[in-house]
Amino acid sequence: MRADYPDFRLGNVLATSFTATLSERHGDAVERIPTPRRLVDWLAVSGLAVDSCTTAQLDLARELRESVHAAATAAASQHALPGTAVQVINDRSAQGRAAAVLTPEGRRHWQLGSASRVEDALSVIAADAISVIAGERDGKLALCASPTCRAAFFDTSRSRTRKWCDMNTCGNRQKKARFRANQRTGPTPAE
Ligand SMILES: [Zn+2]
Repeated sequence: MRADYPDFRLGNVLATSFTATLSERHGDAVERIPTPRRLVDWLAVSGLAVDSCTTAQLDLARELRESVHAAATAAASQHALPGTAVQVINDRSAQGRAAAVLTPEGRRHWQLGSASRVEDALSVIAADAISVIAGERDGKLALCASPTCRAAFFDTSRSRTRKWCDMNTCGNRQKKARFRANQRTGPTPAE
C-alpha cells in the first residue's frame, strides 16, 4: 500500500529534491524511494513521468542520488569534488535523452526520449545537479544545520542565511527541541 511509504519532501530545486528522497542520513535514515514503483511516483510528481522502472534502474537512480549528495556536500563545504561522484553525474547526464519544450502557457516541460526510460529522467536530474553545483543558478549550496540531517540544499533566500533544508521538518523540529529545553529549565519570560 502506498500509504505505508514515507512521504516525499519536495522542494523547488529538482536535484536537491531528489537527494531528499533519502533523509536523516546522519540519524535514522529514511528511504523515500524504497521500491521501483516509488521512484516512478517521485518522477511523476517531479514532472518526469515514466511508465515503468526496474530494480536495476532504481539502483542507477540511487547511485546518482548519492553522487549528487556527495558532490553537493563537497561544493557546499568548499572542498574538492569527489571524482567518482562527478563521473557518475556525468555518465547519467550523457546517457539519457530529454528535450526541454515550451508549453502554450509559457512553462518549461521535459519531454523524455522514451516513456519508459528512467535513464532519460535521470539525465535531467543530473543536468540540474550540474547547473547547481557549477554555480550557474542564483542561490548558494548549503548544508542543513540539523546534526542528524546535514542535507545539501540550495538557498535562494535573499540573505543566503537559510539554516535548514526544510522549514517544515528540520526547522520545525529544531524549534520544538528549543521549546522543550526552555520548558525544562523552568518558566521563560514572555518574548
Ligand atoms: Zn535537514
